Amino acid sequence: MKTKKTIKGTCRICKQEKELSFEHIPPKSAFNKNNRFYTISSIDYYQNFEQYKNEKPNLKIEQGGLGEYCLCVNCNGFLGQMYVREYKKFSHIAMSILNKYEDNYVKSFEFDISDINLLKFLKQITSIFVCSNQPAFTNSYPELIDFIKKPELESLPDKYRFYMYLNNEGHIKNGKFHYTNIHGMVCEFVYPPFGFVLNIDNPNRIMEVTEITNFKHYNKIDKTRKLPIILNKYITHYPFPLDFRQKG
Ligand SMILES: [Zn+2]
Repeated sequence: MKTKKTIKGTCRICKQEKELSFEHIPPKSAFNKNNRFYTISSIDYYQNFEQYKNEKPNLKIEQGGLGEYCLCVNCNGFLGQMYVREYKKFSHIAMSILNKYEDNYVKSFEFDISDINLLKFLKQITSIFVCSNQPAFTNSYPELIDFIKKPELESLPDKYRFYMYLNNEGHIKNGKFHYTNIHGMVCEFVYPPFGFVLNIDNPNRIMEVTEITNFKHYNKIDKTRKLPIILNKYITHYPFPLDFRQKG
């Protein structure tokens, strides 16, 4: 029998030293199966950004799904069982809406998401940020791990704020944290059809993107009514967090 490749390391969720398996980020079922995509070392990209504005950087073509060796088999399976389906559902709705209006210059979309368990969806997004960063990241922010590990937990301290937008053009972004002048600590993850932002310790709301922190209160929402959401679509030409400038 062919065994899946594993590597030794610290699991980002249970924090134990274990064999880690490859975790698709985002989930394989959410358009992350058989891509051809380009990767570049982010350090290289940031350092030579001025140069890359005019010429193509040294790109490595990779095939397969995008992801990392970040979780043990148990934690990987736990996410798959608990949260992945909601992410898949939402991503398929969003992708079909983006495809439908592909030729238009529509920048803002309103649609119904009453079919989706938003608490589970938010926990899946949290796991994306936890997996995208080094294990030490959650030494400072252990509540994020609690929020993932306890499916029923509906509370998360107010210092963690989440945002989202739609995206189907430009750079993907890897979710690693950055310190920004305007917003403080920002993690941004972009992979079509979504962009997600985790902003920590910033009392001010980020206005360009839709705040979804309240998804944690999903269980208190009246489920018999329609649940609309408005999301802006942004093209990510630039690698900097929350930089939605047009090219040129
Ligand atoms: Zn684990």
